[in-house]
Amino acid sequence: MRNTTSKGILERLQEGIVQGAEGYVFELERRGYIKAGPYVPEVVLDFPEAVKQLHREFLRAGSDVMVALTYYAHREKLKDVGRENDLERMNRQAVQLANEVAREGDALVAGNICNTWAYDPDNARESSRVVRAMYEEQLTWAVEEGIDFVISETNDYLGEAMIALEVIKQLGLPAMVTLASVQPHTTRDGYDYVEACQRLAGAGADIVGLNCDRGPETMFPLIEKIRSTVSCYVAAQPVPFKTGALHLTFESLRTSDGQQAFPLALEPFLYNRFEMAEFARRASSIGVNYIGICCGGAPHYVRAMAEALGKTVPASKYSPAMELLEKLVATPLVGVPYAYPVICSWTDRMDTHKGRRYWIWRKLNVHDPFRNLPRPQHLRNLRLHRALCRRKSRPTNHAGRRTILQRNS
Ligand SMILES: [Zn+2]
Repeated sequence: MRNTTSKGILERLQEGIVQGAEGYVFELERRGYIKAGPYVPEVVLDFPEAVKQLHREFLRAGSDVMVALTYYAHREKLKDVGRENDLERMNRQAVQLANEVAREGDALVAGNICNTWAYDPDNARESSRVVRAMYEEQLTWAVEEGIDFVISETNDYLGEAMIALEVIKQLGLPAMVTLASVQPHTTRDGYDYVEACQRLAGAGADIVGLNCDRGPETMFPLIEKIRSTVSCYVAAQPVPFKTGALHLTFESLRTSDGQQAFPLALEPFLYNRFEMAEFARRASSIGVNYIGICCGGAPHYVRAMAEALGKTVPASKYSPAMELLEKLVATPLVGVPYAYPVICSWTDRMDTHKGRRYWIWRKLNVHDPFRNLPRPQHLRNLRLHRALCRRKSRPTNHAGRRTILQRNS
């Protein structure tokens, strides 16, 4: 058991919302440390610093929980990549890394077990034995290294989730058990998602809910039903992708040429940070207790969600200061090795001032994330720019500039 003086998960939930952050495997694949396909977190042993860095980024962005990267670090998956002998070392080190970073803030450490692909409802007795042994060995190592609670996640089968719950409870730890809602209404073993959560709550899960597969739009209605049905804590960790009525899950999204976008071509479907922040706000308004993000998650989402929940987090120090962008709206066309703002466009109008010509900047359309700021006014923008010119100091060394502008070369 982890020797921590900070409050445990249940005390924190009692006091308010706990924020989570996941999607480690997806993000570390994007960063070049995990192979897509098997998705085994070999990075834990091969590049531990990369894992710590991502933990740290999530911590700074507001996650209250460092989830040990043991997703798919189970016997079945390690066999696939020929690293079965690394099983124990990988599991122990993942928990150690989570602990190291958790101590840098006031975060909890969650042990993590997941769908095993070994469970077979048609051969429940035999496959349950295999699954149980996998969970027991993973969690025994996790407990020895120190965890505060366990997240059993991405469960396709209620039967498998129940085995996870039993093992967690045998170890005397708080249990968060969340389902992967990959099918329209029911788990793969045929239980309505709401009923499955009810059963998990009835069997002693402290937190139940959903993670992965669905984006906010298609996860929200289900979570609303679960929230109004169970009396225990509820967790929601959607993926930041635009799933909808036609495509309930990110596995079903299609690229423009009809190919499956999951898992490597999902970028066109990403939500922006403001939309994920809106999900956090909505989830909080209906009483969801544990709010996070799953595959596709990244620190900028986590920070935006934290701030939407009323928190100021370490990374808030560098939260957008769009008034700086306002000051840089009109960049000289000539004479300055200038840069274009990344997220704005230019009108075809120009203005002449003191014999020099300037492009006039305009804000983007309704999708503009800054639409809540005061309406852009070209005259005001030009006044600001003229003031800069009068100072005869080119704004190239402006401190804020480097963070929001991209060199046009
Ligand atoms: Zn996920």
